[in-house]
Amino acid sequence: MTVFTDMESEVRSYSRAFSKVFHRAQGEWLFDESGRQYLDFLAGAGALNYGHNHPLLKCALIDYIAEDGISHGLDLHTRAKADFLTALRDRILAPRHLDYVVQFTGPTGTNAVEAALKIARKVTGRETIVSFTNGFHGCTVGALAATGNQHHRGAAGTCLAGIARLPFDGYLGDGIDTTEYLEKVLTDGSSGIDHPAAVLVECVQGEGGINAASNEWLRNLAAVCKRNDVLLIVDDIQAGCGRTGDFFSFEAAGITPDIVTLSKSLSGYGQPMAVVLLRPELDQWAPGEHNGTFRGNNLAFVTARAALDHFWRDELLTTSVQRKGGVIERKLRDINERYFDGALELRGRGMMRGIACPDGELAQQVTARAFQEGLIIETSGANDEVVKTLCPLTIGDAALDQGLDILDRAFADVTRRHDTSCLRAA
Ligand SMILES: *Cc1c(COP(=O)(O)O)cnc(C)c1O
Repeated sequence: MTVFTDMESEVRSYSRAFSKVFHRAQGEWLFDESGRQYLDFLAGAGALNYGHNHPLLKCALIDYIAEDGISHGLDLHTRAKADFLTALRDRILAPRHLDYVVQFTGPTGTNAVEAALKIARKVTGRETIVSFTNGFHGCTVGALAATGNQHHRGAAGTCLAGIARLPFDGYLGDGIDTTEYLEKVLTDGSSGIDHPAAVLVECVQGEGGINAASNEWLRNLAAVCKRNDVLLIVDDIQAGCGRTGDFFSFEAAGITPDIVTLSKSLSGYGQPMAVVLLRPELDQWAPGEHNGTFRGNNLAFVTARAALDHFWRDELLTTSVQRKGGVIERKLRDINERYFDGALELRGRGMMRGIACPDGELAQQVTARAFQEGLIIETSGANDEVVKTLCPLTIGDAALDQGLDILDRAFADVTRRHDTSCLRAA
């Protein structure tokens, strides 16, 4: 019995699959107590896009702490916050011609989603939010209502209200544009769906199985929202901050959401931080109406600013994410051809990619086998059937190849034990 099994709640999850005691980390590497190293293809579930303890961010943080910089600041004006806002404007918003005000919420993703839903309801005076099949938006009750996953929803213990669920892109198969259905129900007073305040969407569903909406679907969605006076909220908590190549996952579609939520990799250092970006007209909050004691985590502002200034001053990161995303995609295609005769579905874009296994059991065996070989990689999707590569965007080419080779061998091992002939026949 360890102190963990002895003291920690049964709710713990990742630590069950990766049951070592980790102690140090650098870049794409994690080290356990015995000094063994693991390649990290989980990257804090998307909170470590720039890897662990990036030296530049670490130096900025150490310097700031050494000079007794403000650590906790509620929502007081601080130099660290001013520097973050300036970097966000100069590196991200201004070059993309995006005009947003920034709301600092409590430092978790789910808190940003709660704030986004609240302001959309307040501004429009309507209650219903449209969210999508397999969407994941967090585990507090408002965000959980918008989440599809039954495992998470089942834990609510209260009614999850105010949401109308619609099929995401591809949910009804190829060739069916589910935004047509949305438009139909919005224009039919008797559709049974009350006119919504907003549509809440992930451009690439992270927890829901790496389902990437097409650019065309996203453009149609934005147009339907506009025509019907419904706000568009993009939850970019996992797919944002460069994961798909661009800073925002919606850029490739050329759409401009009314509201955007950001968290996970925003601080760049695994420091908790979350914001809501709002079109200025929507910023109808009364002072303090939505607050949070830890909305001023200035240590996060320091590393976020350093990350924006370093990684987003040019196109290098975007280009390398596209290139390495291609490497991952080719390897997954290879695995699919070699062990499944191409029967599986490959999903995602940029460096957010997955391969949908026939069932969750096989996917789990693959990730368990990979872990034995020193690769930390997780599953996602309705039945945990999607093996999900989410390595740091900054991973070196050799480490990327090494991790993908471990994954390849894990698939080889597991499929050798499994009879996949039924798949081949199909
Ligand atoms: C992780 C995630 C959230 C919730 O963030 P927490 O910090 O865990 O509350 C919300 N939306 C998306 C898309 C996420 O991936």
